[in-house]
Amino acid sequence: MTTHQPVNLLNLTPAEALTALREFALSIGEAPYRAAQVARHLWQSPAPTFEAMSDLPGVFRAQLAERFTLPRLALAGEQTSTDGTRKFLFRLADGQAIETVAIPDGKRLTLCVSSQAGCALQCAFCATGAMGFIRNLDAFEIACQVRELAFVSPALNPTNIVFMGMGEPLMNWPAVDRTLTILNNPAGFGIGARHITLSTVGWLPGIEALEARKEQFRLAISIHAPTDALRATLMPVNTKFPLADVIARAARFSRRVTFEYVMLGSVNDADEHAAELAALARSCGAFVNLIPLHPGGTMGFVPSSADRIARFAARLRGARIEVAIRKSRGLDIAAACGQLRAERLRRGPPAPTDQDREVHQAP
Ligand code: SAH
Repeated sequence: MTTHQPVNLLNLTPAEALTALREFALSIGEAPYRAAQVARHLWQSPAPTFEAMSDLPGVFRAQLAERFTLPRLALAGEQTSTDGTRKFLFRLADGQAIETVAIPDGKRLTLCVSSQAGCALQCAFCATGAMGFIRNLDAFEIACQVRELAFVSPALNPTNIVFMGMGEPLMNWPAVDRTLTILNNPAGFGIGARHITLSTVGWLPGIEALEARKEQFRLAISIHAPTDALRATLMPVNTKFPLADVIARAARFSRRVTFEYVMLGSVNDADEHAAELAALARSCGAFVNLIPLHPGGTMGFVPSSADRIARFAARLRGARIEVAIRKSRGLDIAAACGQLRAERLRRGPPAPTDQDREVHQAP
């Protein structure tokens, strides 16, 4: 008899999982329709274990558990803000911790997911960057940030997903690609592509890969400075992919892109920056999201004042650029993305305690 390594069903696309389950059902003489029954419990009606799939015969459940796995992310911490924002810290099998943030807004529930543990890009104001790169997440580790919310009580059902947690999603394309399928496919979570936003520093090969998909996933690009000289001081990746190349790519993108622009007091918030940013946004038809810097920190940046942000926005509007000022959410849970991780994880290199990944709603 051949022995198989158990297959992680949650790291497969819905179509692959169904095929694997059908083959398995056939091989043990179980009715093929049972495969679809199991598949429903992966994403549509998540079950925590095979044993919990009570619509299946007990013997079949036991056979499934020998052949397949349904890994869970361990919930290692949770904080709730007075504004309803909730942060979850998940621990992965190898002990790494990642953060996921749920942001309610009227009928919407936006989930901000992590795509990597740590990040290689070292943006000057971002504390996940200061942690350095630890590793890429597998597809199931990203998709299960959504799946796990079915098991909190009451269950949370996100309507929107933003890849604005820890990591650079377009530097982990194979896993993100697969995750997008799980999120969007009707046999997965069935979340509309226009409700799924990828945020990137402008990692050009990843933008090509995203463009190659037929679904209308949204693209947000972290611009943060309107000139190469300034941007290079904030985002080292600008040396590899300079502003002009990023803007040119955005202009060719088949959908409208969003610029993200974090407002750093006396750094990138002057009137002349607004004029330069307006020219860039106009050249590629971008919508601009102004992001208040999530405060707190020894990284040497201070948030722009509310007045300054309002004036900056007015300048952009005056130049006929569509602009929104993001609301800061979850401020009272001191809860910016790496903070929770830094509090709970006493291993690895010291992480900055002023971590401050603000999470954002999709535009
Ligand atoms: N790597 C991707 C996605 C993760 S970050 C990217 O850079 O776009 C999501 C957004 O949060 C980015 O625009 C990032 O620059 C921004 N961000 C990081 N630290 C922040 C902080 N302290 N305050 C506000 N926004 C921050």
